[in-house]
Amino acid sequence: MLDKVVIANRGEIALRILRACRELGIKTVAVHSEADRDLKHVRLADESVCIGPPPSDQSYLNIPAIISAAEVTDSVAIHPGYGFLSENADFAERVEDSGFIFIGPSSESIRTMGDKVEAIRTMNEAAVPCVPGSDGPLTDDPDTNQKLAADIGYPINIKAAGGGGGRGMRVVHSEATLLNSIALTKQEAGANFGNDMVYMEKFLETPRHVEIQVLSDGQGNAIHLGERDCSMQRRHQKVVEEAPAPGITPRMRKRIGQRCVDACIKMNYRGAGTFEFLFQDGEFYFIEMNTRVQVEHPVTEMITGVDIIKEQLYIAAGEKLRYKQSDIDIKGHAIECRINAEDAKSFMPSPGKIDRYHAPGGPGVRVDTHIYGGYTVPPYYDSMIGKLITYGADRDVAIARMQGALSEIDITGIKTNIELHRDILADSAFQAGGTNIHYLEKKLGL
Ligand code: ADP
Repeated sequence: MLDKVVIANRGEIALRILRACRELGIKTVAVHSEADRDLKHVRLADESVCIGPPPSDQSYLNIPAIISAAEVTDSVAIHPGYGFLSENADFAERVEDSGFIFIGPSSESIRTMGDKVEAIRTMNEAAVPCVPGSDGPLTDDPDTNQKLAADIGYPINIKAAGGGGGRGMRVVHSEATLLNSIALTKQEAGANFGNDMVYMEKFLETPRHVEIQVLSDGQGNAIHLGERDCSMQRRHQKVVEEAPAPGITPRMRKRIGQRCVDACIKMNYRGAGTFEFLFQDGEFYFIEMNTRVQVEHPVTEMITGVDIIKEQLYIAAGEKLRYKQSDIDIKGHAIECRINAEDAKSFMPSPGKIDRYHAPGGPGVRVDTHIYGGYTVPPYYDSMIGKLITYGADRDVAIARMQGALSEIDITGIKTNIELHRDILADSAFQAGGTNIHYLEKKLGL
């Protein structure tokens, strides 16, 4: 096993990684900004190193500072968590060039999946179903582009190869605005992502977001852990997630899961990963692959019993995958609510001191959070302060337990979006299951 791991992240995921390391007897090093000395995992880690001032670009994104911290503490590996440097291929490369293990895929895999055109090409080769589209970058030829769009059928989406975080996309409803939209998206992509390559795909009007979790050891073995439904979104940010996805049959799961597994083996993928799909009219359409652990990984852990972070650590230590596909049995239902320090109506961030915090509990309730009474949420980072996860033998039980947990949880001193979650859980369409990605914004009147 790994001897000592640097946790290059903060908040709940840093604590989650620390707990997995402890279970495996791995020593931990917390690297943190000046604003984060009071984080729970910093206090619990075997060692801690301050890597810079509060702004992320001077601390959590400061590659030399993180690598020096690994050097001075004699660590062997670096876990990037999610966000920050987790999908930065240059970081992964620098980590490995400096003699440390990057707990994640090779920099080459990260680079390929970070370029959407390359990612789609790879998926097409591996027979993973993609959105009908241009099969590569658009040229400057107007006739070709018009014909392509007409063949795909309007509405279409112009997307930047280097886009991310919901940016770098433009929907086109008719030929009248096509050429202008391509030019504009190209221009913006060049300015924002330093890469003006754009491509075209069918715009799906009422899809759900359904994603497949995979684990792959980079030694020819891969499995999938079923799917999650993350359709409850606001501004492309997931708000509530669940597993399994309502209405996905074991047969559909097996079919799409196997395609993802085959793709992992074909590209010699190493680590945990997620294939994100839009799901509409019974069909899956690949949109992107996340080459890291995701915020919503706990719902999959609850229904499979697999500890995804621990498996990341085993894989990074060079072990062969410890599970076969036939070991994976999906049981029950899990739901996750992301708790943010923000106003439940205006969504304005609400950093500050938490006066009081009472955690919910009882059967099937899991709380992944770093907060405690007296903790001050700094204003510099993402507003997510924790995740409330419930599990039950079926979806109704998971919902009932979530409603119970949301009524028990008590956070004062800052504003949170708990009220929004109470509304969502009481919503009849959510309770029926299977709402599409526009549902929440429509409900909120956005
Ligand atoms: P990003 O890397 O910016 O997250 P994605 O390709 O994952 O980009 O797309 C983000 C979101 O944009 C999706 O979750 C979906 O809501 C919407 N989207 C992307 N492609 C399409 C499409 N072809 N049709 C409809 N919606 C899309």
